[in-house]
Amino acid sequence: MSQIVLFDEGGHRNILLPEQDAGAGVASNQHIVIDGQSALLLDPGGTKVYRDVFTAAAKAKQTAKLEIVFLSHQDPDIVAALNGWLMTTEARAVVSKLWHRFIPHFGSDKLVYSRVDPLPDEGTVLKLGGCELLVLPAHFLHSVGNFHLYDPRSKILYTGDLGASLGEDYREVSDLAAHIPLMEGFHRRYMSSNAALRAWLKMVRPLDIEIVAPQHGALMRGRPMIDAFFDWLEGLECGIDYMPDVFRVPA
Ligand code: FE
Repeated sequence: MSQIVLFDEGGHRNILLPEQDAGAGVASNQHIVIDGQSALLLDPGGTKVYRDVFTAAAKAKQTAKLEIVFLSHQDPDIVAALNGWLMTTEARAVVSKLWHRFIPHFGSDKLVYSRVDPLPDEGTVLKLGGCELLVLPAHFLHSVGNFHLYDPRSKILYTGDLGASLGEDYREVSDLAAHIPLMEGFHRRYMSSNAALRAWLKMVRPLDIEIVAPQHGALMRGRPMIDAFFDWLEGLECGIDYMPDVFRVPA
């Protein structure tokens, strides 16, 4: 599996492990943040990719120790392999308090589940090595208990399913207008409302962001691209805005 270095400066590294073949499952990106000897893995993927991601993550983090597994939300492509990660590392995991008691249904050994910490709705600051990563509320985008991770050092905003695209054959977006059709259907149906998008945009627009890195598909780099993406989200009708008439008894 290849590694894409997104940032590497002064012992701080951000590495993308690009999409794994998950058979019939939707492909997902894995990301690693390393600061000094401490590593954090984002949204590690399901059981089908566990072995490959484990090997790739070990290679990418070199001698650093996996300390935190960040779970943006509760979907199977994110949490299904959590038990494996907890059993084979000493890492702790963080996930919304809304999902904390549901994830054990994927099969988590109770001896390791004490290392899974519930996150409050307001988010938190995670210490990793000598840096602080911000866990930002992203509820309703799409999950009701959803978080993004902002790394002020590399200026990468990890957005989970927000910004996800399907079917592209490139890793970075160069033409947003051409890319939007690959995001549109997913966002209209999976994101809950334009109100949630606008509330989220109000929080993230002031941040100094160099890369928006979603869990599926291509990433967006540079402020003009990111601003254009944010503008698209600002005007997007999705979820309940898009299908208010769906609540009808089927004939
Ligand atoms: Fe999801």
